[in-house]
Amino acid sequence: MPSTDPNCIFCKIVRREAPASIVAEDAVTVAFLDIRPMAPGHTLVIPKLHATYLEDLPDSSDGPILKTARRVASALRRSGLRCDAVNLWLADGKDAGQQVFHVHMHVIPRFHGDGLGIRVGPDYGRTSTREELEAVAAKIRGAVSQ
Ligand code: AMP
Ligand code: ZN
Repeated sequence: MPSTDPNCIFCKIVRREAPASIVAEDAVTVAFLDIRPMAPGHTLVIPKLHATYLEDLPDSSDGPILKTARRVASALRRSGLRCDAVNLWLADGKDAGQQVFHVHMHVIPRFHGDGLGIRVGPDYGRTSTREELEAVAAKIRGAVSQ
């Protein structure tokens, strides 16, 4: 896995070859404003190393991404921007809505009545039985790597 992708727009931001409004940075991550914000202050946190999907992310990067997202979330609340609450959002894969294939966590300021939300499918609503949950949990437990 290369540490940088010459054609990746987010790698270009890390290398300062593409413009970005950077709001925070540390040794492992960069946080910059989303160019098409869902709300003013909508920020993306990325690892400096190129990783297409979560599975490609080195163990040394996952913690720092959340740490930077927390710092940005905290800053948003104190920034004077409208931010009464925050959503963290990460699309891992095309069918989850991923459009830029360099791992990124969205930090989205939220406030009452902002109209944002996650759409649910038509089957949503019924509380699962414990048996149903255990059948699903068994599959995941069997696949969780140590
Ligand atoms: P996702 O759908 O989770 O892959 O989100 C990709 C996000 O990247 C979108 O919200 C885009 O608006 C944002 N984006 C794409 N290109 C840029 C860029 N050059 N600078 C900042 N944000 C970008
Ligand atoms: Zn990249």
